[in-house]
Amino acid sequence: MERTAKADGSSLIFLGTGCSTGLPSPRCLIHPSDPPCPVCSYSLKLPPQHNPNYRCNTSLLIDYLVANDEHKYILIDAGKTFREQVLRWFTFHKIPRLDSILLTHDHADAVLGLSDLHCVRPLDSNGDVNPISVYATQECCDSVVLKFPHLSKKVHKHHEDIGQVTQVDWRIIQNDCHKPFIASGLQVCPLPVMHGEDYVALGFLFGDKCKVAYVSDVSRFPSTTEYIISKETGEQLDLLILDTNCIYLNGQKNTHFCFPETLDAVRRICPKRALLIGMNHGYDHHKINKDLLEWSEREGIPVQLAHDGLRVPIEL
Ligand SMILES: [Zn+2]
Ligand SMILES: [Zn+2]
Repeated sequence: MERTAKADGSSLIFLGTGCSTGLPSPRCLIHPSDPPCPVCSYSLKLPPQHNPNYRCNTSLLIDYLVANDEHKYILIDAGKTFREQVLRWFTFHKIPRLDSILLTHDHADAVLGLSDLHCVRPLDSNGDVNPISVYATQECCDSVVLKFPHLSKKVHKHHEDIGQVTQVDWRIIQNDCHKPFIASGLQVCPLPVMHGEDYVALGFLFGDKCKVAYVSDVSRFPSTTEYIISKETGEQLDLLILDTNCIYLNGQKNTHFCFPETLDAVRRICPKRALLIGMNHGYDHHKINKDLLEWSEREGIPVQLAHDGLRVPIEL
């Protein structure tokens, strides 16, 4: 986490790399096991900004250099820990605002932070707050508006000062790999994936110069989606950012990949490089990354766990 200065080019900033509860898990601290959970107890020993085992809800910020000096800031998901992530990483990486938001699905760890949007909305040249564009499927938009009616334009009355209320410009996107959209100048392709067998979430594919796929909540890749991001297309991904929720199969009906499934998917998709996200307390950052170095050497694909605050410069 040495990078402090604003990057000149485009970059990806991992605002959160943890599971839904975040880490440390409150349960492990208020009902400590014997011996105590090593990852959760360790996650209190160092301050969060120096501690890769302290993980907020999964979220990525795309710092996109559109042209010359013009940067656009595109967020993927704003979960339960969004406020903490803004306080910690927007200040550290000097992020002044958000220009648009992409939502993967309507679960709490992806959308509950939307109630705090007012503090990161863009300003126009008069210093007035502008609406922020939020890209989501119709189902996801409906579900969020039900939770936060003030995020729907319909609740605004004409005499209200719109600078004082959160206002979202909803942009409806499709569950379809072949229906790309443009967010703040960046072309993005939705990647429908199964998140449990009865629920579809989206990942996103973006980048002209470097191809990046981000898939934060997946239990199974439909064949069309997997094909589009796999090396077989002739366009190998430069970076795959992929879900790896728990370290072992827990025997329950999973809604996320576990570690062996994630590594199998990385092997099949065969990107130039992969970073893993969504980890629960089964993952001790340094220990698992050491194991992953061996795996990477063997398989010829560099794979590591990401950590909160990680900034990866990349040409988009
Ligand atoms: Zn724990
Ligand atoms: Zn989810």
